[in-house]
Amino acid sequence: TRIRADLDVRDQFPALGDWHYLDSAATAQKPQAVLDAIELAYGRDYATVHRGVYQRSSDMTLAFEDARFALARYIGASANEIVFTRGATEAINLVARQLPKEGRGRVLVSALEHHSNIVPWQLAGYQLDVVPLTTDGRIDLDAAEGMVSEEHRVVAFAHVSNVLGSILDARRAADIAHSKDALLLLDGCQSAPRLTVEVAEIGCDFYACSGHKLYGPTGIGALFGRHELLQSMPPWQGGGAMIDRVSFESSTFLDAPARFEAGTPHIVGAIGLHAAIDWVEGIGRAAIHNHETSLVAATREALRRTNSIRLLGPEDSAGIVSFEVEGVHPHDVGTILDDAGVAIRAGHHCAQPLMDVLGVPATCRASFAAHSTLNDVDALVDGLNRVQRIFGNG
Ligand code: PMP
Repeated sequence: TRIRADLDVRDQFPALGDWHYLDSAATAQKPQAVLDAIELAYGRDYATVHRGVYQRSSDMTLAFEDARFALARYIGASANEIVFTRGATEAINLVARQLPKEGRGRVLVSALEHHSNIVPWQLAGYQLDVVPLTTDGRIDLDAAEGMVSEEHRVVAFAHVSNVLGSILDARRAADIAHSKDALLLLDGCQSAPRLTVEVAEIGCDFYACSGHKLYGPTGIGALFGRHELLQSMPPWQGGGAMIDRVSFESSTFLDAPARFEAGTPHIVGAIGLHAAIDWVEGIGRAAIHNHETSLVAATREALRRTNSIRLLGPEDSAGIVSFEVEGVHPHDVGTILDDAGVAIRAGHHCAQPLMDVLGVPATCRASFAAHSTLNDVDALVDGLNRVQRIFGNG
């Protein structure tokens, strides 16, 4: 029986037309509702926030702070636990730099982490311990349980892998971290667009995400941190909007989250992100996740029928299929697919250590979103048949 994937929102994405965009894990295309919100915010409604005494500025301030509430609701947090950042990268850097180490100099990461969940810890002077993967490409939590110790300040895991699509049992990861009083940071870049996240229920201490992967604008993202943890962290950038009182002798600072948002913020980014969250909630994360799961299943089934494609990652990966075409460099695969109007990602996906673990220089990655269809999958499979014909290994 043919797999069904019935979500029908493609018409809402002006970028798509008949283009088979299978790189949503890198960045999501934007629905018209988000583009409209951005246009209004920069047009009819535009003014600064937090400072103006005139009506338009107070309205803009309300809209900006409303975006914080929306994101807080979206992940089950309170608004005073949401710091707006440039994205997940900046969010993780903020924690790595500003969280007091309290005598613990190590961070437990996994073998599948994105560079942005590796390098910030290194720059902040932490030693990394690396949890291995199971044979099907998940973070091995049994191993993590044996590895975590009192020396770990943070356990920092991807909630969903951007390469393999593996979904973490985040509840269990929290228990493992807390068993040694370490904190759990989830890199939520790939979970925010598709999984229902309740940070309190999971028990995670930090959660980082990027607006542009969530159908919103680039340049805006967020750090969730439990409020008392954010309060324990000193400010990192100084400037306007984060101070309580400034003199030439010394200055005092606002409470979190404002103390981490120096300068004029990305006002329109936050408003666009709010529109994106509303759009996703209008469809429902469960519906999006189910839809993508069907597309993943259809892709894996079709690629398994070929004899020279090796599928990577677990069967139930979230919206992502990574694979190798035997004897063909991923960049060649990507270029031939591009000629056929199919955009995939070919490379190390900012996870070079994972490539070493998988024993490949790079992978091909097809990633789905709410607008993806079985027609996209067919185009991918046709394109890959063409790759195999060209390289004579079909
Ligand atoms: N973590 C993961 C799992 C990602 O997929 C990405 C983006 N590829 C990042 C972190 C970094 O996100 P950004 O570049 O938006 O800060």
